[in-house]
Amino acid sequence: MNIQSLRGMPDLFPEDLKNWHILEDELSKLFTSFNCDEIRTPILESTDLFSRSVGGSSDIINKELYSFLDRNNESVSLRPEGSSGVVRAIIQKKQESERQKLWYQGQMFRYERPQKGRYRQFHQVGVEYLGYEQGMSEYELISMIVNINQSLGIEKYSIKINHLGSPEDKQDFCDALKSFLIPHEEGLHEKDRMRLSTNPLRVLDSKEESTKEILRNAPKYEDYISSEAKSFLGDLVDHYQDRCNIQIDSTLVRGLDYYTGIVFEVISEDLGAQDAYMGGGRYDNLSVQLGGKPMVAIGFAIGLERILELMTVKAAPHTIKVALIITLEHQDEKTYKIAHQLREANSEIILDAFLSNARLKSQLKRANKLNCDFAVIIGDEESNMNQVIWKDLSEHGDQKLLGIEDLLAVYKTL
Ligand code: AMP
Repeated sequence: MNIQSLRGMPDLFPEDLKNWHILEDELSKLFTSFNCDEIRTPILESTDLFSRSVGGSSDIINKELYSFLDRNNESVSLRPEGSSGVVRAIIQKKQESERQKLWYQGQMFRYERPQKGRYRQFHQVGVEYLGYEQGMSEYELISMIVNINQSLGIEKYSIKINHLGSPEDKQDFCDALKSFLIPHEEGLHEKDRMRLSTNPLRVLDSKEESTKEILRNAPKYEDYISSEAKSFLGDLVDHYQDRCNIQIDSTLVRGLDYYTGIVFEVISEDLGAQDAYMGGGRYDNLSVQLGGKPMVAIGFAIGLERILELMTVKAAPHTIKVALIITLEHQDEKTYKIAHQLREANSEIILDAFLSNARLKSQLKRANKLNCDFAVIIGDEESNMNQVIWKDLSEHGDQKLLGIEDLLAVYKTL
């Protein structure tokens, strides 16, 4: 049997990647306009990194991490998310006290049950504002989210936002929720009973009716955070009220242990069950948790597979494409020199050298199929005269015989 790709790990073919390139270009332009710099960290990291950052009680660590022993018997894992690696890298470089605005992109891996919008290998682009305390940086990241959606032509979306308070507030609320839920354990859905013992806050994310019913009378997060935190959240939401659909959701806790302070998710009804396509929040303690010096931080990640479904900006700027067709009776590799000359003359143009000896007619057919705008044709006759045919491939386009110098002059000014 042929070898197949692994479940939940799709290939991306050239036709798929066209939209990816548009998306990646838009995002990188946008980050540059906010003066963010790119960082690239390894896909494979020590397993300890993720159990200390994402948290031993999270689904990601318990069920979804791709972990294995390397040849030195050390446990390593494919990264399930991007922030841990970025913070590890900054600690390793002893840059915790510098303020930095960074972005990253790349594959992430989670052993989840694959379905539409949920894969085992997927792509994220993320932003991290390191060294920025709670305040204007929250405003800036929401602003960035609004701009990203706008520049990709996404209109129907909403931002759910919550404040998790300080680590102590988070712990107090977690304890209170646990105490409330334990007497109701029998009534909880089976999955949520598991969560209650491993990660009680995640019970709030439950989509099960039986659990939701019990949660109606559960302690409320807003009663466990300070009045400053509450008014910060309220002001932030008010500020953006007229720019986007932003709403407080006090059940939003997010799956990763490291969040404290503001957390948010961007969702769209158009995505179906997996409706969140951006998510993030503040993680002021992650650096210390990983053995670094204190470094406050906030960030978010975009799921590219999901945002691609929503993006309506599709038209890539048209780049002129030229087919180089050489049809000599006897192959003469020296004629390939023209390809060097053309590429030197104008590197902005896509020059597709067909590298084929097929008949002119079939090569022209191919040029049309590939949507080439022009063709440079060299047959025996032209080659003998040191000339080429320059053919406009548009519907009523004409053709002319040109010497090499004239061809290069035309090509330069395309
Ligand atoms: P998270 O790190 O879980 O907050 O995820 C951030 C974003 O990554 C989500 O909003 C999704 O768009 C995307 N994402 C997370 N898990 C997956 C997955 N298994 N497949 C595809 N996209 C995902």
